[in-house]
Amino acid sequence: MDHYTTAQLAQQFGSSFYLLDVNKLRSNYQKINNAFSSRYEKFVIGYSYKTNYLPFLCKELDQLGAYAEVVSRLEYDLALKIGVKPAKIIFNGPVKSYEDIEFALENGSIINIDSLYEIDYVKTYCLKKQDKPIKVGLRVNFDIGNNGRSVLQEGYEVSRFGICVTNGNFQYAIDQLNKFENVQIAGLHGHFSTSGRKVETYHEITKKLCELAKENIADSVEYIDIGGGIYGEIPASFNMQAPSFDDYADAVCSVMNAEFTGYEKKPYLILEPGISMVANTFRFVSKVIETKKVQDKYFVLIDGSVHNIKPTMHKLNLPMKIVRQSNDEKKIAAYNIVGYTCMEKDYLAHDVLGDLPFRDDYIFFENVGAYTIVFNPPFIKERPCIAAFDGDDYFIVRKKESINEFFNEDIYVF
Ligand SMILES: *Cc1c(COP(=O)(O)O)cnc(C)c1O
Repeated sequence: MDHYTTAQLAQQFGSSFYLLDVNKLRSNYQKINNAFSSRYEKFVIGYSYKTNYLPFLCKELDQLGAYAEVVSRLEYDLALKIGVKPAKIIFNGPVKSYEDIEFALENGSIINIDSLYEIDYVKTYCLKKQDKPIKVGLRVNFDIGNNGRSVLQEGYEVSRFGICVTNGNFQYAIDQLNKFENVQIAGLHGHFSTSGRKVETYHEITKKLCELAKENIADSVEYIDIGGGIYGEIPASFNMQAPSFDDYADAVCSVMNAEFTGYEKKPYLILEPGISMVANTFRFVSKVIETKKVQDKYFVLIDGSVHNIKPTMHKLNLPMKIVRQSNDEKKIAAYNIVGYTCMEKDYLAHDVLGDLPFRDDYIFFENVGAYTIVFNPPFIKERPCIAAFDGDDYFIVRKKESINEFFNEDIYVF
C-alpha cells in the first residue's frame, strides 16, 4: 500500500475512489473456509452477491471455490456472465418468475423456494418434464429466539421469509412436492437477519434445520443451508466483542456432526456469508475540498457522500485515516465530515475529535465493502472508480462513470 502516494493514486483514479484489497478478500475466504471445513468436511461457502456484486470480486471468489448465492435473476445472470458453473449457483430470494425457476432448474442450479406460489411453478415445470429428475430446496420459517423476545433486526416479531412450519404451510409444501415422482427435496435453508448475530442463534438455526430435515426429508437431504449474517473481523475502533469464525464454526459443526452421525451420506453444510466476507476488503478514499467553520463548528467538506460509505446512514463513525498533504497547519478540534450532496444529513462522520483535516488532505474510510457500492444511488454525481490492489499492483476494476453511462442513451429518451 505504501508503494504509491495517495496523490499519485488520486491522479490515476480521481479525487474520490474505492480501493479493494484482494489479498484481504482471499484471506477472509480462507479463514471462513478453514474454520468450518476443519470441523465438518462437506462444507460450501455461497457468497451473497447482493452484499457486493462487483464482478471482479465475485470472479475472484469463484476462483477461490465459493458458490454464488443470488437473490434475483439479475444476479443469477451476472454469475453466469462471470463464468460461474450453473451447478454452483444458489438461487434464493422471495420473488422468482416461472421463467426464472424453469431456467435455474434446466441449468441444474440449487434453488430454494421461499413461498407457496413457487411450489406451483415447480409443479408446472414437473408436469412439463416428467422424465427429468428435479431437485429443489425449501427456505423454512420458524421462530428463533430468546424466550419469546425477538432477535430479528429492527425487532420484527416474525420473519417474512420462507415457508412457515407453525401454520402447516411447510408440511403442505412437502406434501405437494411429494406427489411428483421426479421431484427430490434436496435441502432446507434458513437465513435470519438478527441484530445480535449470536453464536447461539446459529446453533439454534442449525439444530432446527437438521431436525426438520430428519423428520421430513431424511432420505433425500443433500444440504443444510444456514444462510449468512455472521460477523466478520471487527475493527478495533468499534470497541466491541464479536464471535470469531471458529466460534461460529464450533457451534454449527458440532450440531451437524451430532445430528448426522451414522448417516452414510452426510449432507453438505452451506454458509452464505456477505458482510463477513467483504466488509473489511474495501476502503473509500476522498479528498478534502474545504474545512469551514460555521459558528463554532468545523465542517470538513469532501468530494464524497455518506452514500458512498454508509447508505443506511447509521450514526457510527467508521475507522478512518487522514493522509496529510498540508503540513503547515495543525489544529486539534472536534469536526464533522460532510459530503457533496445537497442534503443536510450528508454526514460521513460526526463529532470526530483530533487533528483537523485541511484542504487537499485525503481521508480513508475503512471497512466499507458491504452494502455500499450496491446501495450507492445515482444521486447528483457519477459513481466513483473502484481500484483493486494485489500486493503492490494497482488496477481499475470499475471505471468512474461518465455522463454517457449515467444517462445511458439506450434507456433514456432525450
Ligand atoms: C443477505 C443474505 C445473506 C448475506 O447476509 P450478510 O448479513 O451480508 O452475511 C445470505 N443469505 C441470504 C438469503 C441473504 O438474503
